[in-house]
Parts: sequence; C-alpha cells; structure tokens
Amino acid sequence: RSKRDGRNAARLYAADMTEQAMARLALESQLHEAIRNEEFTVRYQPQVDMRSGSVVGAEALLRWNHPMHGLIGPDQFIDVAEDTGLIIDIGAWVLEQACRQREAWKRAGIMQLTMAVNISARQMLDPRFADTVREKVVSAGCNPHEVELEITEGLLIQHPENARRTLQTFRDMGIQVAVDDFGTGYSSLAYLKQYPISKLKIDASFVRDIQHDSNDQAIASAVIALGRSLDLDVIAEGVETGEQSAILIRHGCFLAQGYLYSRSLDAAGFQRFVEQRSGAVLPHPIA
Ligand code: C2E
Ligand code: MG
Ligand code: MG
Ligand code: MG
Repeated sequence: RSKRDGRNAARLYAADMTEQAMARLALESQLHEAIRNEEFTVRYQPQVDMRSGSVVGAEALLRWNHPMHGLIGPDQFIDVAEDTGLIIDIGAWVLEQACRQREAWKRAGIMQLTMAVNISARQMLDPRFADTVREKVVSAGCNPHEVELEITEGLLIQHPENARRTLQTFRDMGIQVAVDDFGTGYSSLAYLKQYPISKLKIDASFVRDIQHDSNDQAIASAVIALGRSLDLDVIAEGVETGEQSAILIRHGCFLAQGYLYSRSLDAAGFQRFVEQRSGAVLPHPIA
C-alpha cells in the first residue's frame, strides 16, 4: 500500500509540476503582453528623515495593472521576469519613468530628493546595463547625484568582479548605490568596504519586532554602527510604529520608509505628501 501511495504521490507531484510550469508559461506570455500594452505603472514610497518628518527620497516600486486581476505587486511576477530576462526591458522602463518623474517634481518645486530604483541581478549582469542607465538619466535631464540604484547583497557575493566594475561606472557617473534588504543575504562585511556604495537599507525583517526582539535590535544597531564607520548612509525599511522609529533614532538611524509615514503613492499623491510635509511649497517666481 505504501508503494502505491508513493506512486500516487509521485504522479501528483508530476501533475503539480506541470501545473506550475504551465502557470509560469502563461505568466511569461502575459508579461510580454503587459510590456506591449503598457500595463505597468510605478508607485513611489516616501523616504523620510524621522527627526524632522521631511521627505528626502522616493523609492520607485513597480506595479502591474492587470486587465483582469487589477493591481499586482512585484512579488507575484518579478521572479518570472528575472528568469526570462524580461526584467531587462521592464527595469529600463521603470528607470525611465522614475527619472522623468524626478524631473517633473523638480519643475513642481521639489528640490531635495533622491529617486531610488530597484535593480535586479539580471540587469546588473547585462553588459549593456551601464549604457542603459546613462541613457535614461541623461535623456530625462536628471542630476545623477539624485538617482540611487538599489541592489542586493547576493550580487556582490556571486559576481564580485562584475559587480565591482559596474558599480565603479556608476560611481564615476555620480549615481548612488544602496544595498537593499541588508542583512538578509550572505553579507560578507569585508566585501562592503571594497565596493563603491553609499547606503545600507536595514531590512524590514529586523525592524518588525525590534521592540521585543533583542537580537533584531542588536542586528539593527550593528548595521547602523557599520554604516557610521564605513561612512555609509543607513535607512530602515518597514517602519510601521512610533516605537520602532524611536528605537531606530536612539540607535542613530534617522532615515526610514514605512507605513508609519506612508505607503507607496502615485505621482500626484507623492507630490501632495511632500507639499503637506514641507508646510509650504517653495514660492514660485512671480511671472
Ligand atoms: P524592496 O525593494 O525591499 O521594497 C520594499 C517593499 O516593502 C515594497 O513592497 C514596499 O511596498 C513594502 N513596504 C514598505 N513599507 C512597508 C511597511 O511599513 N510594511 C510592510 N509590510 N511593507 C512595506 P513591494 O512594492 O511589493 O515590492 C516588493 C519587492 O519587489 C521590492 O522589495 C523589490 O525587491 C521588488 N521590486 C519592486 N519594484 C521593482 C522594480 O522596479 N524592479 C525590480 N527589479 N524589483 C522591484
Ligand atoms: Mg528596494
Ligand atoms: Mg528592501
Ligand atoms: Mg525586498
């Protein structure tokens, strides 16, 4: 009987795999279509200085406005976009939108603001990537110092030489680089100082229970200290409560993004958020 169960289980497993493979295939073709039909959209989450409440940056976050399923988050499709290489085109599009938006906000009087864009390893390993970045930044008229690319640790560990070369190109261009989800990968701290990066993002998983979990608090505080000694900015992700923010500030981390301040917003919503926070918009010159 156990043998038969085993066989059934194997068959079930095979059926399961097929179903999964089919779902991936369907998703892949829908992603192609989504590019053609311009179904993607970008939202922006404010990055704030927790002490003053002022907005210092925006993180561009990809959304898929699916004709049947509505707004879909990147966790639902980014893996397939990476595996198929579609992320190269999608990512270039996000970068273009984000750079243009940065300039649109500048015309609206928003001066001090960094625009952060997530970059997947697949993009970084594309030999044309540095040129793509340069082209998008230049054609939007963006100040490269106001553009920040978010990469993850995995890339630094798995492709150290490639990563170093590409990151150096960005440094030469004046573009900033942040390490996203810091602490969740196989962080090799020794590596860190050899890369031209400017910021560490404390992963939300260390922030979530920071009030109650002394290990999380120890990790956050170690990242903050590391940032200080390597002269890197540190920003906390996923800050949802005043207690979390108070603890982070106490440990010397002043930048954050999270639902306590704002969810991701569409471009108009982001602009309103900044204007409310700064009290008054910069006065427009009298025509
Ligand atoms: P991430 O870069 O670490 O972005 C932070 C994620 O946390 C975002 O989810 C954001 O909406 C969410 N978040 C922000 N504050 C809070 C909070 O207080 N509580 C909670 N529970 N969540 C919060 P999102 O937009 O679903 O993005 C998920 C991931 O997808 C991103 O993680 C990033 O790795 C990836 N991603 C997003 N946009 C792009 C893109 O344009 N290109 C690439 N390659 N990846 C992207
Ligand atoms: Mg990110
Ligand atoms: Mg993150
Ligand atoms: Mg993440």
